[in-house]
Amino acid sequence: MTEEVRDLVVAGSGVAGLSAAVYAARADLDPLVLEGDEPGGQLTLTTDVENYLGFPEGVGGMELIQRGKEQAEQFGAEFQHGSIESADLDGRPLSLSLSTGETLRTRALIVATGASARWVGAEGEDELMGYGLSTCATCDGAFHRGDDVLVVGGGDSAMEEALFLAKFADSVTVVHRRDELRASEIMADRARDHEDVEFAWNTELVAIDGSREDGVTGATLVSHPEGHPAEKYETGEGANEADEALAVEEVDVGGVFYAIGHEPNTGFLRDTPVDLDDDGYVRTADAGEAWATTATAADGVFAAGDVMDREYQQAVTAAGMGSMAALDVEEWLESEVAAPADSTGSIATEADD
Ligand code: NAP
Repeated sequence: MTEEVRDLVVAGSGVAGLSAAVYAARADLDPLVLEGDEPGGQLTLTTDVENYLGFPEGVGGMELIQRGKEQAEQFGAEFQHGSIESADLDGRPLSLSLSTGETLRTRALIVATGASARWVGAEGEDELMGYGLSTCATCDGAFHRGDDVLVVGGGDSAMEEALFLAKFADSVTVVHRRDELRASEIMADRARDHEDVEFAWNTELVAIDGSREDGVTGATLVSHPEGHPAEKYETGEGANEADEALAVEEVDVGGVFYAIGHEPNTGFLRDTPVDLDDDGYVRTADAGEAWATTATAADGVFAAGDVMDREYQQAVTAAGMGSMAALDVEEWLESEVAAPADSTGSIATEADD
């Protein structure tokens, strides 16, 4: 273990982590940014970002991230590969065990580890992920020139993926479990108006066919007029005969794309004092309470971006929260100097003297 104790480690290099790093580096906190398992975060999987303030022509997701990293480095932020596997956040300094085998010690931590793509749970997905099944149209769309492909989901991501895939694929079918989209009107209209994008309403994917050699070759879809058909579907001969409204269809497709939302990357926080909600999102302090809005239940640990925000999940809000977290850390570190804690983490008071 290194004896060095840093002022600040930022876990995650997406837009929240980078924004935190820019602010913290400008405040001379010498932040170390752990790039994580998906360096650059979700924006690196996006094509054009049209709603980030200051780019009237739009900006590529990857470009925005690269510029942010450059900006943070320019002010002195350091970047390192690896992610946190486990953390001891009870004492001071905080101790972080990394995937690289290294242990870092730091006074403060900003958790900006974002969220990762959710999987449907369809039969065959474990074998075929990366072999014609993907969670990223931007990364893998070009492999599907001339294919018929499915996109699972009904939110903005599904619309974005479908529109992107329509540039390459022969046809794109959006498979949605209800008959109403969750996507914003503007994105939904764009997808609905595209001649190569179709919708399979009240439909779910239950199995994907293919092999690692041949890729995805087909899929099994179920539909029911009341929606959420997968929970009504049972496997086995004659199993679905009682519900005549349930339809099962085998389709020939060359690719399947999942776009059903994300899970927060908070596994390493499970056995720590950081409070997580039922879905694993970090709970931060309510505005107006003793500490600022990015403070978590663990002293010295702050959170920003999609890992703590299940509501807005926008690049621009994540950037804003990253800067808030850095400002909160700066204030917290100053307060620590004024009233240092003992090694158990409790703040020294006059009564202790
Ligand atoms: P989302 O809004 O949570 O939508 C997830 C979709 O997947 C929903 O339609 C949901 O169905 C469906 N779904 C969830 N679990 C499923 C399952 N097990 N099987 C089948 N379907 C399932 O997620 P998102 O589309 O990734 O968007 C996340 C956030 O990012 C949103 O705030 C969005 O506005 C934002 N975003 C913005 C843009 C943009 O502006 N360009 C692009 C992408 C994302 P139900 O509707 O039935 O729940």
